[in-house]
Amino acid sequence: MSSSPAPAGRGRFAPSPSGPLHFGSLVAAVGSYLDARANGSAWLLRIDDLDRQRTVPGAADAILRALETLGMHWDEAVLYQSTRDGAYQAALDQLKKRSLVYPCACSRREIADSAVAGIDGPVYPGTCRKGLLPGRSTRAERLLTGSDPVGFEDAVQGRIVHNIERQIGDFVLRRADGQYAYQLAVVVDDAEQGITDVVRGADLLDSTPRQIYLQRLLDYPEPRYAHLPVAVNVVGEKLSKQTLARAIDPAAPVPLLNSVLEFLGQSAIADCAPEDTAAFWPQAIAGWRIARVPRRRMLPAPENPGAGAAG
Ligand code: GLU
Repeated sequence: MSSSPAPAGRGRFAPSPSGPLHFGSLVAAVGSYLDARANGSAWLLRIDDLDRQRTVPGAADAILRALETLGMHWDEAVLYQSTRDGAYQAALDQLKKRSLVYPCACSRREIADSAVAGIDGPVYPGTCRKGLLPGRSTRAERLLTGSDPVGFEDAVQGRIVHNIERQIGDFVLRRADGQYAYQLAVVVDDAEQGITDVVRGADLLDSTPRQIYLQRLLDYPEPRYAHLPVAVNVVGEKLSKQTLARAIDPAAPVPLLNSVLEFLGQSAIADCAPEDTAAFWPQAIAGWRIARVPRRRMLPAPENPGAGAAG
């Protein structure tokens, strides 16, 4: 008796439930799905509902239903970040035990006033590194960073190297409102889910060296990364979620999926009825070539995402 072989790897799609699936998040969904399926990998789903203030009730279910309508089926149970505080705290404790985490009393305003601009906002100037000044109380908890370069080879964007201490500074692992930071949660969850391939939007490219830095400290394996182009207008501004939102027509999902394929530099599937996702996916999977994904993409006509030209 033969059993099916174990999947080669594990990919994932991790939407934040701050609204319905829009063109930008659909690009990440389709890219990660095609890459996983083309490689014989599992494709997992995680709902990034870590940030309680940004979570819109009903949005997670709407995203799951939209994926089903599009014929995108995931493996295993969906992981919800809102259930994972214990795991994030355990990782934080592990870093604390090694004296890699320190309390910080600085407000956003104080940091903005005293910091130089970095690649992701002001570089934290290290004010609280040597302890809190008398009379100050803890707001956030920060990771002590180092000056060794942290780099990786992105399958779409090429080599990326950051000096985290100089370009970002000691970054927050637990926020002033008590919530665990995205950077910590994503690393803990990718390790928990055994993710080998992270395929997501290039708006997260600048987060990746921080995540790799955390993976090394926590002794987690390092996934491969591919950052897909994000939709920008002709002057390079990221398009808003409102501009990109396009209701998914359950009667005709294929034209929308084809516009995502074209955005990702892949050939559209021509011989496929507008409603026939069952015929669409095997052809799209067979045709997937990550080497054809452009690094950047422009959408000259925001209302028509399929008409974008490579930027
Ligand atoms: N939840 C994040 C977002 O929707 C993506 C996280 C990730 O892919 O690492 O922007």
